[in-house]
Amino acid sequence: MEIKFIADNNVGKLAKWLRVVGYDTLLFKEKDDVKMIEIAFSEGRAILTKDAQIIKRRLVTDGKLKAILIRHDDPKAQLRETVKTLNLNYHFRPFSLCLECNQMLIPRSKEEVQDLVPTHVFKTQEQYMECPSCHRIYWQGTHWQAMARELRELAQRH
Ligand SMILES: [Zn+2]
Repeated sequence: MEIKFIADNNVGKLAKWLRVVGYDTLLFKEKDDVKMIEIAFSEGRAILTKDAQIIKRRLVTDGKLKAILIRHDDPKAQLRETVKTLNLNYHFRPFSLCLECNQMLIPRSKEEVQDLVPTHVFKTQEQYMECPSCHRIYWQGTHWQAMARELRELAQRH
């Protein structure tokens, strides 16, 4: 079974990076720890948090719930920490999830996105993906390439 996460709001940028790599990661934006733990438990998600109190919860100490205490402040260091702790893969399923909604992206043909992307993008890019939730269109432009390069660098240092 693939590992899924719920990220506490104190590690929001880590959630985004995990989505870049392709790991299903909910971002919990509320303050109510009990609710976050309930969601984690019912959906089988591992908790990522900087809050040491959560790690001490009974469900976690009993081993019924996985929770990872994140120590670093820098999001990329946090990603490295998470990958290392859980033996994850930097090349798991890159750019398959919407970075905003955590939804699985759907491939779209060039024709389908013609009116939805800037002309210079349409002229240079062949492959497109769409988020079924927010309808954001993704393509492998410079931003995407920069993130891919950062992942490669992280993987090499690993
Ligand atoms: Zn989306």
